[in-house]
Amino acid sequence: MKIVVDRDLCQGHASCEGEAPEVFSVSKKGDLTILQPEPPEALRRAAELAVKYCPTHALSIVEDDVEEVEEVEAAKAAKAAKAAKAVEEVQEGGGRVVTVEGED
Ligand code: SF4
Repeated sequence: MKIVVDRDLCQGHASCEGEAPEVFSVSKKGDLTILQPEPPEALRRAAELAVKYCPTHALSIVEDDVEEVEEVEAAKAAKAAKAAKAVEEVQEGGGRVVTVEGED
């Protein structure tokens, strides 16, 4: 997840810092600093509350790149299909399939 702030909307209210002090810091002048632009999952709830209670709706959360996840899933599916086809070809040829477990 990534924290995105619309600086045009932010007015330095510091509600965000109150909800998630590990993620947001607001100076006395009202300047917002995002301490952790990509906070860990452990801070998700706090970050969501900061987004929810920002009075000017300046904050939002963008989830990690969906396309990247889809590419990884597609590559895994292609690899599995290739392996299945290889097994099929070996079996058709009367060969024996030996499975070796290992890392992806
Ligand atoms: S609560 Fe919203 S308006 Fe206030 S400092 Fe945080 S982001 Fe800016």
